[in-house]
Amino acid sequence: MSDLNTAMIEKYRTSFLKEVEANVEEGEWVKMCMQCGVCSGSCPLGKFWDHPPQEIFMMIRAGKREEVLTSDAMWMCTSCYNCIVRCPRGLPITTSCTASRTTRSASVWCRRTSPPPSSPS
Ligand code: SF4
Ligand code: SF4
Repeated sequence: MSDLNTAMIEKYRTSFLKEVEANVEEGEWVKMCMQCGVCSGSCPLGKFWDHPPQEIFMMIRAGKREEVLTSDAMWMCTSCYNCIVRCPRGLPITTSCTASRTTRSASVWCRRTSPPPSSPS
């Protein structure tokens, strides 16, 4: 990654994103989401969520901590893995959903459901 890319990532890294990266296993992947919407479109239950997976990643990056942690979205995930199979960047989306449940009760995101193919630098 170039110095310019690294500088821009740091410029827009909110405190909530830093919190997720520090405490969530695979949390470093959140910044890699390109907001294509494939995960939300592939999720069989996404249309019933207050915030589908794509929006959750956007909200984390936007620093909307309370909105994410009070969302019911993560409780709707059935771990069917449609999103992970189709995500063009291989984000561990299911991990984020299930880990969010832990965060709401223990303030630590740690649950792991599946490893991504490799970690971003
Ligand atoms: S694993 Fe969860 S978020 Fe992903 S498609 Fe299935 S229900 Fe939706
Ligand atoms: S499919 Fe992957 S890259 Fe696209 S919005 Fe969902 S998490 Fe982001």
